[in-house]
Order: sequence, then C-alpha cells, then structure tokens
Amino acid sequence: MRLLFNKSSLILMFGLFLEVFSKLEFEYHSNKEMENILRRFEVSGKQKLKTKLYSIGYSSSTDEPFPLWVLELTAAPENVTGIPNVKLLGNMHGNEAGGRELLLHFIEHLIDSYGKVKLVSWLLNNTRIHIIPSINPDGFSNAGNSCNGMKGREVPTKKIDLNRNFPDFFHPNPDLVQAKESKAVMKWMEETKFILSAALHEGAMVANYPYDSINPNGDNDDDSEYLTPDDDVFKHLARTYANSHPVMSTNKGCPSDVKEFKGGITNGADWYSFDGGMGDYNYNYHGCMELTLELSCCKFPPNLTNLWNENKKPLLLYCLQAHRGVTGVILDSETKKPIKTKLKISDREAYFGNDRKSGEFWRILLPGQYVLEVEAPGYYAHFENFTVEDFKKFPKLTNLTIFLTNSSLPTTTTTTSSTTVIHTTNTTTSVSALIFPNITSRFTDNDDDKDYEYGFPSISELTSGFLKNSCANLALLLSVISFLVVIS
Ligand SMILES: [Zn+2]
Repeated sequence: MRLLFNKSSLILMFGLFLEVFSKLEFEYHSNKEMENILRRFEVSGKQKLKTKLYSIGYSSSTDEPFPLWVLELTAAPENVTGIPNVKLLGNMHGNEAGGRELLLHFIEHLIDSYGKVKLVSWLLNNTRIHIIPSINPDGFSNAGNSCNGMKGREVPTKKIDLNRNFPDFFHPNPDLVQAKESKAVMKWMEETKFILSAALHEGAMVANYPYDSINPNGDNDDDSEYLTPDDDVFKHLARTYANSHPVMSTNKGCPSDVKEFKGGITNGADWYSFDGGMGDYNYNYHGCMELTLELSCCKFPPNLTNLWNENKKPLLLYCLQAHRGVTGVILDSETKKPIKTKLKISDREAYFGNDRKSGEFWRILLPGQYVLEVEAPGYYAHFENFTVEDFKKFPKLTNLTIFLTNSSLPTTTTTTSSTTVIHTTNTTTSVSALIFPNITSRFTDNDDDKDYEYGFPSISELTSGFLKNSCANLALLLSVISFLVVIS
C-alpha cells in the first residue's frame, strides 16, 4: 500500500511536472487549451518574472462568451515610471490562426530565455510586454483550417470584421456598430499607455504600416500611398521585421498577391485601402505605432515549427524598438506634479499625449535632432531641443524632464533637463522614482545569447538586412533534467 502510494505520488508529480515544464507542442490549440497554456505560463513565468494573466473583456458570443486573455510579462518593478508598454495581438481574423500559436511560443521563449539570453533579459527588465494570442476566439471556433477562404474571419454573431471596426479619424462613421472585442481593445488602450504594437495576420507575407485609410485630401480614392508624418519610423519598424525574417524581404510574395511588396514592406493604403483599421486607430487616437504583420501565405500554416523559426528573432527585435526615441515626464515647475499635455514633434503633424497619472510620454524616433512642442491649458507653451542617438549594443532612450510654468507666473522659472541615458533615477520628480534593476548584474559569463550575438542592431544594419543570414536554435534540457530529478 505504501509502495502504491509512492507510485501514485510519483505519477502525480510527473503529471504536474509535465504540465508546468513541458515544451509547448507545435500544433493548433482550442480556445480552452490556449487558456490552460496561458495559465501554465503565468505560473512558470512567476519563477523568475512578473507574469500576470488578465482579461480585457469577453468575446461577442451569447452562448459561450470567451475571455479575451492577455498575458503580461516583465521583470521591471511595479509602480515605477520609465517602462514602455508593448502589445502583440494575434488571430484578429479568426481564420488566420498561425499568429496565435506563434505568440504562445513567443511567451514560452521569453520565459525560458530570461536570465540566459542578454537581449531577452534586457527587454524584460525594461519593458512590459502584453500578449493577447487571440482577439477573436469566436471566429477561430467558427473557422476550419483552410489556407484560403473567409470562414471564421469575422466575429460570427455580429458578422463584424474587427479590422474594419474602429473609429476612423479621417472618415468618421456615426453609425459604426462595434463588436465587444473592438470595444475591449479601445478600453484597454484607454487604461494602458502603449507605445508599440503589432497585429499578427496571415494570408500574405508583408509588414504593413499605416495609413490603411484613404487620403481624404488625395486625388485618387484607392490604392495609392497615404503616409503618416512618422513615415520614416514606420518604414524602419517594418524593415526591422522584414529584414530579420528569412523570407519576408525576398520579394517572393504569395501566389495571391496583386502587388509586389518591395523589401517585404508596404504602406497599407498603397496595398488596398480601407476604413476603421486597428493600426490607424492606434496611431491617430493613442500615438501608438502598430504594424499589421502578415506572416504566411497560408492562413492556417501547417508547419508551425517553420513559422516560429522564421518569426522568433523578428518579434524580439520588433519589441526592442520601443526603446528607440524619446521619453520623459512633464511636470509643473512649482508643484512638481505631472501635467496632462498635448505633444508634437516639430515638422510632424501628429499630436500625441502623455500619461495623465505619471506625466510620462514616449515617441519612437530615428537618430537625429528634434524639437518637442509641449502645450497644456494654463501653462506657457514649451519647445525642447533634443537629440536621439543611434546605439550598438543596448538601446538608449533620450530622457527629458520638462517643467512647465503656469501662465500666471513669470516665464523665467521654466527649467528643463535633457540627457541621453538608459533610464536613470530622477530625484526631482514627484512621480514614483525611476528605479531599475541592475541589468548587468543579472548576466553571467556563461550567458547563452548566441541567438542574438549581434546585439541590438544599428539603423544601418537593420536597413541593410544583415540579420537574414543569422540563424539559431535554442535547446533547453531543463525538462529532462527536472524529470530525472523527480524520478530519482
Ligand atoms: Zn487578417
């Protein structure tokens, strides 16, 4: 009996071990299986990171509304400023399912590689990454597994295409009926200030950047470029992804392509224009730069191992771009309290805001000289010159602390400070201090960062596509070792 108990215990331990430590299979998972995997990742991630599984709402289904699960991963302390939020969304079109599995593997990779791969550790020490593998679980349930076709693309109960379901800045639609999924994304973005985002799709092979919408002032009403004031940044983001992907930038395209995507990137309106896209909404309403990443000619890629190997590095490099450009806080010069402001980079006709609570702002910019224009009711307008530098190994954000002077006071009290740093402690602010873990102390001489041995690529390297020839394969033996420990 005692022996039986011991055997049972072993079997139970083995089962638990498999549940927590087994590697994710390269196969498609149902919504419920996906939920269980995310729960498992939340637990395994907590061993070395801060992982949090949360839902931004429910799907539209009236029979079985499914939670819209997000897993947040970071190693940064809570309640500190200076940590950008990045989001990755998959399965917006329910029948484009590769991205949802890809994102599950990306989560596993981030957890496994933290403390072993320098760039992964750096990214998680300095970033909050929010991953939602499926924003359209109802559509996925309704889809087959076809490479082509439209079944399952929309939210089934509402017949709504989520990527046509957001407020369009250029073409307001007062009759827009929104799905619960789109509303959930909008509420999520009101609550969390995201800097960088990607929506993963399939059915083409291209990195698509805004605008998708038709130019309201243009001569042509369709299929001509409509570029944002931050087109240099968007092209850089798209090239970062395409050039580090082994196939995307090769111009091979897909059989169904009606246009050639030079370098594997395209402006949305130039490909085909439409209103109500999520990418345009992110940029126009929240100052968040989002790409639509089309990752496979087949909407249900049969070989998920290939999909993962092709996209692992691009996903990581893409997330790191949140650390390119300028950040800072805007404070009242007298009270040192945060001020909600309207911001703009000179010569770029695109306004963005800062965080109401912390006063923080972010803008991804390429290396160069810029002027930040700051406006707030009741304060003198402020113009701040700053420089964004390129870097080789680890990213550096230009960090500004801007004090605005109340317009009832003399302007001479306005002060600013501007430095280029990797996040420093700032003792002059009244918001929570910028405290960061000592990132270098987490690494050992034996760090396995062969995957990313090139470090953080410079702009010229990303543009030249030098990354394409770099390939790697991480193999973790933790599960085997742990199993041997358990049965020994
Ligand atoms: Zn799609």
